[in-house]
Parts: sequence; C-alpha cells; structure tokens
Amino acid sequence: MAKVLCVLYDDPITGYPTSYARDGLPKMERYPGGQTLPTPNAIDFTPGELLGSVSGELGLRKYLESNGHTLVVTSDKDGPNSVFEKELVDADIVISQPFWPAYLTPERIAKAKNLKLALTAGIGSDHVDLQSAIDNNITVAEVTYCNSISVAEHVVMMILSLVRNYLPSHDWAKNGGWNIADCVSHAYDLEKMEVGTVAAGRIGLAVLRRLAPFDVNLHYTDRHRLPESVEKELNLTWHATREEMYPVCDVVTLNCPLHPETEHMINDETLKLFKRGAYLVNTARGKLCDRDAVARAMESGQLAGYAGDVWFPQPAPKDHPWRTMPFNGMTPHISGTTLTAQARYAAGTREILECFFEGRPIRDEYLIVEGGALAGTGAHSYSKGNATGGSEEAQRFKKAS
Ligand code: NDP
Repeated sequence: MAKVLCVLYDDPITGYPTSYARDGLPKMERYPGGQTLPTPNAIDFTPGELLGSVSGELGLRKYLESNGHTLVVTSDKDGPNSVFEKELVDADIVISQPFWPAYLTPERIAKAKNLKLALTAGIGSDHVDLQSAIDNNITVAEVTYCNSISVAEHVVMMILSLVRNYLPSHDWAKNGGWNIADCVSHAYDLEKMEVGTVAAGRIGLAVLRRLAPFDVNLHYTDRHRLPESVEKELNLTWHATREEMYPVCDVVTLNCPLHPETEHMINDETLKLFKRGAYLVNTARGKLCDRDAVARAMESGQLAGYAGDVWFPQPAPKDHPWRTMPFNGMTPHISGTTLTAQARYAAGTREILECFFEGRPIRDEYLIVEGGALAGTGAHSYSKGNATGGSEEAQRFKKAS
C-alpha cells in the first residue's frame, strides 16, 4: 500500500467555503484539438467546489483510503522542519501544484528513497528536478491541457488591463476619486498593436486565437512551427528566434515551460531589444525572467507594464520587487486554478493515480519523465536538467510574515 503526500495551498482565511457564487460548471467533453478531458473511473467531489486547497484534498481521500493507501495533506512545504520534508522520507507518491509548489530539489529527491511518482495537479513540472527524476527512475506526470484555456483567458485579460491602465484607474474609483487625466495619461487602445507570443503551444495558440478579433497584428516564435493553415487563418508572422520577435512587438507574452533552455531568457540584455514602452505578460513561470532586470526595466520605462501570476520562488518573499514596481498587474499564482480548472485537474490527478495503481499506462500526453528519460509531453516541450535552484528562498515568505 502506498503513502501519498499531497501538498496544497491553504484554505481561504475565512474558512473552507460552505457555498459558492454559481451553481455548477459548463459541460465539456473535449479540449480544442480533440483531446478528451480526464476520464477517471469515478470522482468523489462536486465539480465547482474548492478542491485545490488543503480541505478540498483534490477529492482524493475516499478513493485512496478505501484502497488501503495513506493520504497526508499539508500546506507546510518549505524548510527542513516542514511537514513536507519530514513526511517525504517514506512517501511513494508526491502530489503538488505549481500554485503552491513543493520543490523537489536534488537534495530532497535523494532523501525520498521510496518515491516513484511525482504528480503535478496542474501543468508545469519545473518544481521537480527533472534530471534527478530521470536519474532515479521517478515518473513525473502532469494533467496536460487541464488549465491551458484558463490561463489563455487570463493572458488576454492582463494584456487589456495593462494597455488600458485598468488597475490604477480602478484604484482611483475605489478610493473616491474622479481623476480622469491621472487614469488616461498611461492608457492606450490595443487595436493595431503588434502582439507576440514566445511559444504557441496549447496556451500560446489559444491566446493568439482569442486576440485575433481585437484587430491586432499577431506574431509568434516556437521551436516547432504551426501548420501553414493556422498561420494563414490567424495571419501570424513567425519569427525564427525570440530575439528577432522582441523588437517588432508592442506586447510580448511568455507561454513556454521553464527548463534550463528558457531560464532567465528575459534579462538586461534581451530587454534592450524590446521597443521602449512595450508590455510584458508572463503567466508561464517567474524564472523565465531575471527578477531584478524586469524591475529595472519597469522603473526606467523601458517596459510600460508587466503583469502575470508567476514568481520565483513561490510564495514570493514579501519584499519581492514585482509586488510594488510601478504599473505592475501581478497577482498570486491563480490563473490556472479557477474552480473550473480545479475540477479538471482533480479528475486528471485521479485518472493518473488509477493508472499507476492498476498498472495501466499513463496517457502519453500526461507524461514528463518515465523510465529514466523525458517522455510524452516532456520529450516534446522540456529539456533535461534542474530549474529548482534557489527555491529555498520560499522560506522567507513565512519568516517575514
Ligand atoms: P504546451 O506543452 O502545450 O506548450 C508549450 C510550448 O512551449 C510548446 O509549443 C513548446 O514548443 C514551447 N517551447 C518549449 N521550449 C521553448 C523554447 N525554448 N522556445 C520557444 N518555445 C518553446 O503547454 P501549455 O501551453 O499548456 O503550457 C505552457 C506553460 O505555461 C507550462 O509549461 C507552464 O509553465 C505554464 N502554465 C502556467 C499556468 C498558470 O497557472 N499560470 C497553468 C498552466 C501552464 P515545442 O513543443 O514546439 O517544442
């Protein structure tokens, strides 16, 4: 029987909800492109409820305990005295989420002698040292597509809110003002702007599709080019490198995974290639950007706005400069964990666990590492190596509060 260690974010400060704003979720069977939604044998939760926090337990307790497994759920994930670090030593399976990542560093993997499966209840497994997973024959899997559209919607919202100066204008209204000139002296229309995405995978392409009706000129760069029919349909301009795309764009959005090839790809040097006053939206991973280089570009006006929901490490220390830099539209990591997305990633987590326990293959599209090598989506979209370096700084969030 297995010990399953599950790290989830805390419940709301007002307590676990007893009612919700809406009744039920829209029905969906397939994602764009045809991939089916998760297909577990059963679920023990009501879609639309809060599943991603500690009391939600991803709806897994009944299933796991009725099959004789042990489930430990905690939000205490950082530092040597954390519940996570103590429970990890004999855990067979770790479930974690990008929103509140339990970093599986080389040191932690070395201590986790029984670990066989690192399961991401979401998308993006960069919080796991993939090289150590490869070397130690640990399977890494994530719920591909579960929240890609959730994030694409968020990207569009953030682009519009930066360009139109929404958040500072909302603050004027909320604080009793009517300061039109203060609001609009930093506000523009998106129409006819040049908008580019780094990566046109599930999220990047969905962003392009959603932005096309805004009458903007669309650009992308990716390691694999999209089919010609899609390029024509959306009137896309492809760029062979990121560096060629940056200078032509008014808005750049990052939609690629974090891996050693993409870490800190936005830095002092590459920011010089941007148009003065460009907007940058990053809902992919905080570590794609050099934190201080972004803060400097915002202070100098090289960037007119920066928005996103991803930081490094997470939770971000209270003094992280992105919390306070001018014209930022930052939120905690939330875009992929709407109640809608939670129902899909909880069902996908259950599907992966059922496959694992019943000896059935995990869907190829869910695999990142298997059998000592990058596999499935991991082989397509990631590179080998470790992107968890520096994650111990997450402890500072607690210490400073
Ligand atoms: P996909 O796997 O569908 O897309 C990833 C794309 O990135 C692929 O097209 C891949 O290209 C491309 N890519 C990889 N490396 C590079 C590179 N060096 N240069 C350019 N393109 C590259 O994943 P999703 O679109 O669903 O998700 C993307 C990322 O978004 C996730 O990895 C995660 O980090 C983040 N995310 C954030 C969430 C949030 O809540 N904020 C939620 C979900 C995801 P190719 O395959 O052609 O090599």
